[in-house]
Amino acid sequence: MTLLSKRSIVKEDKSNIITLGAIAAEEKKKDPTVVNATIGMLYNEEGSLLTYKSVDNALLALTKEEKYAYASTPGSSAFHEAIKKWVFRSYYKDFKNISEVMATPGGTGALSNCFANYLDEGECALLPSYMWGNYKQILYENGETFETYKLFDEQGKFNLEDLKEKMEEIKIRQKRVLFVINDPCHNPTGYTMTEDEWKGVIDIMNELSKDGTPIVLIHDMAYIDYAKQGFEYTRKNMELYKKLNDSAMVIMAFSGSKTLALYGVRIGAQVCISKNKNHLLDFARANKFSSRSKWSNTTNLGNKIITKIFSDEDLKKSFEDELKYAKFLLSKRADAFLLGAKNAGLKTIPFDCGFFITIPCQNPEKVYQALVQKKIHVIPMGSVIRVTISAISLNDCEKLPRIIKDVIDEVDR
Ligand code: PLP
Repeated sequence: MTLLSKRSIVKEDKSNIITLGAIAAEEKKKDPTVVNATIGMLYNEEGSLLTYKSVDNALLALTKEEKYAYASTPGSSAFHEAIKKWVFRSYYKDFKNISEVMATPGGTGALSNCFANYLDEGECALLPSYMWGNYKQILYENGETFETYKLFDEQGKFNLEDLKEKMEEIKIRQKRVLFVINDPCHNPTGYTMTEDEWKGVIDIMNELSKDGTPIVLIHDMAYIDYAKQGFEYTRKNMELYKKLNDSAMVIMAFSGSKTLALYGVRIGAQVCISKNKNHLLDFARANKFSSRSKWSNTTNLGNKIITKIFSDEDLKKSFEDELKYAKFLLSKRADAFLLGAKNAGLKTIPFDCGFFITIPCQNPEKVYQALVQKKIHVIPMGSVIRVTISAISLNDCEKLPRIIKDVIDEVDR
């Protein structure tokens, strides 16, 4: 007997990341030699959270009201401009008048609003085959389902062909398509799409929407500012969004957790792009309603830190310098891990940059258990294990591949 409603009986947070992350953190508290490669946060070489001085300075400059008063539901116009300036950077002027922003609690809130307003109950979203698992829970919470497209083709490149096929199938059935791309530094693989692959996505969207079918891309750009190709590369790909048809639209999910290491402050944004003013007005109206009904408003603290840091040129510059160091740290760890993997003969899924490296194996759960015996905590997911290189030291990145290879050989034998 349960008092839960029918829809809620099956609700159980399947997020390995939070559950196994908490176990790993607990083990590490008892024994500091434990390697905690679970949760998606960036740590420094000394093993404490990597935070940004410029973010702290922006926070310290805030008044009592700026920190603790209610924020408005969509966020202030100053917040909107600050987000646009940061997200579009040198393309700001091009996008300023064809975009709209909604403040949300992290990228999660942005995704939740997108799924709520661009699909009806019972409809299905198209997700990548390797993915951040929470997409599925957010969809379930909205009474929606999902299907997947193969992220990679035989050559380990973005699988445009499968994406198109799945979009066409859904279009016939559902008369609208909502699909998710997580790029750059895809979670969990670390894949980053090429410009040609992005062009291919835009072509598919335009082809499928030319008869007026709504085609909505949710571009989850949580890790955008950690792409090794840099700001210009990632923003240039956005320029392609100007080519979209009237009934094709993109909404980007920005994460203050990742870009600014403001994980617990819960701030992010939806950034919608459309040349059609009515689509922008609809976006602002419906998403304001959703935000108000789910979390009422985001933290003023998060709103104001972001507004300050992205609109004050000096603060922004010092923040960018700090980000450079964070990216350098990540790339050194990635290089060390990949070299170790190569030397050990350990296979990895196509990786380019970011917080995670994934390793295919037949028994991820058993590999996880065996690694825990060796005081190494990773995340088993589907047919891979995910190693969070952002959370472990360079030294651990050098050591881990050999240990993981031996464990997989033992388990899969
Ligand atoms: N998208 C991806 C791919 C993520 O990995 C995460 C967090 O780990 C998020 C979105 C949401 O993060 P947040 O809500 O903290 O911004």
